[in-house]
Amino acid sequence: MQFELIKNFVKDKGLPLYRIGQIREAVFVKGISSWQKATALPAALREDLEKNIKILSFTVEVLQASKKDPVFKALLKLEDGRKIETVLMKPGKTWSVCVSSQVGCPLGCAFCATGKMGFARNLTAEEISDQVLFWYQFLLEQKLGERISNVVFMGMGEPLLNYEEVAMAIKDLSNPDYLGIGQRHISVSTSGVADKFFNLAQDLPQVNLALSLHNADDSERSKLMPINKKFNLETIKEKLEEYLARTGREVFIEYTVIEGENNLPMHVRKLGKWINSIKDNYLLHVNLIACNPAVGKAVATEDSSVKKFASALQGMNINVSIRRSMGADISAACGQLASKNRRKK
Ligand code: SAH
Ligand code: SF4
Repeated sequence: MQFELIKNFVKDKGLPLYRIGQIREAVFVKGISSWQKATALPAALREDLEKNIKILSFTVEVLQASKKDPVFKALLKLEDGRKIETVLMKPGKTWSVCVSSQVGCPLGCAFCATGKMGFARNLTAEEISDQVLFWYQFLLEQKLGERISNVVFMGMGEPLLNYEEVAMAIKDLSNPDYLGIGQRHISVSTSGVADKFFNLAQDLPQVNLALSLHNADDSERSKLMPINKKFNLETIKEKLEEYLARTGREVFIEYTVIEGENNLPMHVRKLGKWINSIKDNYLLHVNLIACNPAVGKAVATEDSSVKKFASALQGMNINVSIRRSMGADISAACGQLASKNRRKK
């Protein structure tokens, strides 16, 4: 729900303006999931709100909890019947939400389940920020804690192909009248839609940028991620340098290690060389993650193989971390739940 809706509703109905604050508090502080729970409001107003304003722009179709990790995943049904997924996880001490930015994705990366679904439409800013509001309600109802510390755009879709709505959602989420999640705690992950890096640097310089690289050889990367034909490694480098110079922010290079495909000695060399050729590359940080075999012939990558890749990169003076994949038992990687549900039909 967008905060503007409350303001307009109160003004249109000629209600006293202090109702704006009360409704805001019920939704964004108390995290009510139905208007009936807004007990600070008179019953007639609650009914009026019930008839006119939906707190969330979707319903929950499936909610799954991982048995191994503090990870929850929801399949959401939007008003037009289309489905998206969102994940709540606790990788350390605090909760993070992973949001979708599109229904499906037009970019068709070889390893990605969302890519295999094709593209239906962009999400609205409201549909994006509501995913976070939904998990906020969930945390409070389940008494799992009260705060969502981070939001990452790593669910379904390519956020930089839906730039306007994503930027609006980020502004809403970070608004102190809304959930007040600082922009430094919001990360946008992109497959390399490089012509939008500058917009991000200009409009949202505090937001973290993560680049899904996965291969530093142009012809191999184009096979893995067809977007590379439009924005190749040279273009990405150029736009990245501009971004780094303007923001001075750390950028994360995401690299999913796919056994035998992008972890050979030549891949380490090419990745190291590409990173070392970038101006201000001390701001770059490589995150390695073992491949989650969602689609195709990819096999799960052994931890030892990821460690070997990491130390080879360190040998080239590159900042590198290994990230743990969480919630594999509920297919918490990109696009997997939604595509499984589609297949069942
Ligand atoms: N479209 C954006 C954001 C969504 S994908 C992007 O591509 O960055 C979020 C992350 O999940 C990306 O880093 C993507 O490369 C990764 N991903 C997709 N499928 C995966 C899989 N099967 N195993 C591991 N990571 C995967
Ligand atoms: Fe789209 Fe990202 Fe999946 Fe590629 S990895 S198909 S860009 S969601």
